[in-house]
Amino acid sequence: MGSKAKRALITGITGQDGSFLAEKLLEKDYEVHGLVRRSSFGPGNYRNIKHLLDKIEVHPGDLSDGSSLLRILGEVRPDEVYNLGAQADVAESFYMPEYSIDTNGSGVIRLLEAIKILGISPKFYQASTSELFGNPDNKIQNEKTLFNPQSPYAFGKQVGYFAVKKARDEGLFAVNGILFNHESERRGEDYLTRKVTKAVARIKLGKQKKLLLGNLFPYRDWGYAPEYVNAAWLMLQQDSPEDFVIGTGETHTVQEWVERVFELADLNWKDYVEIDEKYKRSAEVVHLCADPARALKKLGWQPKVKFNELTKIMYEHDIGIERASN
Ligand code: NAP
Repeated sequence: MGSKAKRALITGITGQDGSFLAEKLLEKDYEVHGLVRRSSFGPGNYRNIKHLLDKIEVHPGDLSDGSSLLRILGEVRPDEVYNLGAQADVAESFYMPEYSIDTNGSGVIRLLEAIKILGISPKFYQASTSELFGNPDNKIQNEKTLFNPQSPYAFGKQVGYFAVKKARDEGLFAVNGILFNHESERRGEDYLTRKVTKAVARIKLGKQKKLLLGNLFPYRDWGYAPEYVNAAWLMLQQDSPEDFVIGTGETHTVQEWVERVFELADLNWKDYVEIDEKYKRSAEVVHLCADPARALKKLGWQPKVKFNELTKIMYEHDIGIERASN
């Protein structure tokens, strides 16, 4: 691995974005290291990265354990750190608020403190989120929009966001990528978008009868994850560190997502969807829509995959899996 162009450390490498980013960095001839936390079914959850295991190096650790972060950063001495690890499920964060705030907030501080203690200066990317905006006054959000977070997930991310800004003020090349929702065939199966594509595929094949959902009215700006990790990489290749909003600039309701996926299966959503109070959040973020103008201007970043194509990619993937497992 020694003669590679640059060395990167990715936390959250086993997740949707981490696995896409690892592929992207390998294509660019990076030496790729990943922090992986222990899982009960083995040394780590390798589902998304098993095809990469002979090309990357994984390190056991956890964002809740500062000593593991110090050890890994000291061993790897990366040129770039991508902090994608998080308790990344907004709905779950209401059930485990302290843990979510610790991982998403204090976890960032632990990483930045370890960097300081070691006296190293990698470029640092923080996976910030549109959930920071919560319910803002403006219907379209950019880098200047005030935060109004609504969930323990976002409270933790707000701590991380400001820790990164402070590290930047102190001289580290540290940036926040404020990413709006991005999905893919690797999205966890409990996330709304994937829950829908998987359920509709199963309903189409007669394996499931109903789809239980919570609120259908929230608006989200949905893009395709591989394009978003490219934006993260671009942010670290700039001459100076700056935060960027990343999204498509298009917004759709949850109901539109549901309707569209059922349409792909040639079914009427009203025959299958039921509202279950248990899936409604105690505080809902109502309207998210990105203004990604700064990213377009300065990073040259522009999303190609929009709503219709995204639903198709995910539905076709899931119906393929469900057919194969018949
Ligand atoms: P994801 O698929 O849920 O992946 C989360 C990753 O974090 C997994 O690798 C997970 O490991 C790891 N992780 C969780 N808790 C950890 C801990 N205590 N210590 C170390 N690692 C831990 O999420 P994603 O969609 O790829 O999102 C990547 C990042 O972007 C997250 O920080 C998320 O909050 C942020 N973000 C995502 C979106 C989006 O729409 N996808 C939008 C804005 C921001 P396991 O595999 O072991 O669970």
